[in-house]
Amino acid sequence: MSEKIHWADVVAGEVPRDMVHRVATGITPSGPIHIGNMREVLTGDMAYKALRDRGVTAELLYVADDFDPLRKVYPFLPESYAEYVGRSISDIPCPCGEHKSYADHFLTPFLSALKDLDIRPRVIFARDEYRAGTFTKEIAAALLHTAEIRRILERVSGRTLPADWSPFYPVCSVCNKISPARILEHHETHHTVRYRCSCGNEGTADYAKGEGKLVWRVDWPMRWAHFGITIEPFGKDHATAGGSFDTGKEIVRKVYHHDPPHPVVYEWISLKGRGAMHSSKGVVVTINEMLEIVPPDVLRYLIARSKPEKAIDFDPGMGLTSLIDEYDRVSHEGTSREFQLSQIASVPTRIPFRHMVTVVQVARDDRGLFQCLARSGYDISRTEDILAQAGRVRAWLRKYAPDQVKFSVKDQLPARMRELSRKDLETLRSYTEFLERMDGWGAEAIHNGVYQVAKEVGVDPKQIFEAVYLAFLGQHRGPRLGWFLEALGREPVLGRLREAGILCV
Ligand SMILES: [Zn+2]
Ligand SMILES: [Zn+2]
Repeated sequence: MSEKIHWADVVAGEVPRDMVHRVATGITPSGPIHIGNMREVLTGDMAYKALRDRGVTAELLYVADDFDPLRKVYPFLPESYAEYVGRSISDIPCPCGEHKSYADHFLTPFLSALKDLDIRPRVIFARDEYRAGTFTKEIAAALLHTAEIRRILERVSGRTLPADWSPFYPVCSVCNKISPARILEHHETHHTVRYRCSCGNEGTADYAKGEGKLVWRVDWPMRWAHFGITIEPFGKDHATAGGSFDTGKEIVRKVYHHDPPHPVVYEWISLKGRGAMHSSKGVVVTINEMLEIVPPDVLRYLIARSKPEKAIDFDPGMGLTSLIDEYDRVSHEGTSREFQLSQIASVPTRIPFRHMVTVVQVARDDRGLFQCLARSGYDISRTEDILAQAGRVRAWLRKYAPDQVKFSVKDQLPARMRELSRKDLETLRSYTEFLERMDGWGAEAIHNGVYQVAKEVGVDPKQIFEAVYLAFLGQHRGPRLGWFLEALGREPVLGRLREAGILCV
């Protein structure tokens, strides 16, 4: 087999070893943070871990852009948010009423998801930094270089900026908006600007106190310089010709005398059949919703196994079961780099997802769940962990599972048994007798018995499968029969099948 180098190791190998590296990620918490956004932090985290594995000193940063303005009333917001458009998402109310601010509403669950995914960055809150005066020097430099920045932006991006354009937007003291106000005067020693807002207000903003912020295209390169960022993943929208990375590269060199970071451009994650995820359009599965269903290491694996430049079409239905199966396979081998970068120390061995899908639908409650699992020979000592796994599978069944994997065990012999012919019922009785004679109660033997009996009696095995499913589920299909009957338990299975056998007498 040829040695394939994992993409994260490729990234780590592309930068010089003999310096401290800072890998930056950043997401604006202006809407639900979805699994498309997760690619940003996971790409950064894997590059960071690959650096560390090479013995390079590295740090992972997550910058929360919580000082950004609300851009519009997104589809998931009530109309009443119209009055907040233009104001900082840190200064407007949260949609549910339980968080400190709008930004916190989306950030809090996201930060907890990062922990679950074993991503432990230094978290920087943009608004706090602006308020603390962290960027005062850099804002002054941007204001002093307004003409030069403007030339770069116009030349590289091809856009024409208004005559009174400024890289700094003050927070207007009257309308409270982060406003593209006209800057009338800059007082460097007092770190203030005089401005005239479109609302008519003329005021003074102190940029050492966070009374305004740099526009995105300048804010980004400013951060590279300030924090010493050397590697940064970002979405392909920033990577287009004349886009914010292109303008940022020039601005960081000319204004801040710093090199731009090594870029890692990533593609979108789309939801099968629903298109690329965009929080502004409401087409999302949030990271937290995903973690209700997918084990965190499998979610890491989804990102680890694809190069960043490859689009991911994620199917949370049956596609998820295949993904989990694939992960279980690589984790048994335990050697691949994809697996190493996906692993989370605290996650123990799992019960196969497909089996859990059967067991949670067979068991009436948690006690039944543990009985089923014990019957199949699983170690059930890690109670909490097993309950968490069962909880994820139940949520998957509720939200994403296709109908063909769902079933419910009927309390009584279903009326549909009457559909079976006398011959079918006799065959079923032969299979029942086989089960009665069987040593032990194992999935494989139960399953193979169907073929053995079918051969002896001279019928298609399908007839036995259908008759058994009908007897328990009132439908012709069901989960893999061996696991299913094993999970139900010997006595309940024999009881029901004997009852069915009486029908043919
Ligand atoms: Zn809230
Ligand atoms: Zn104003």
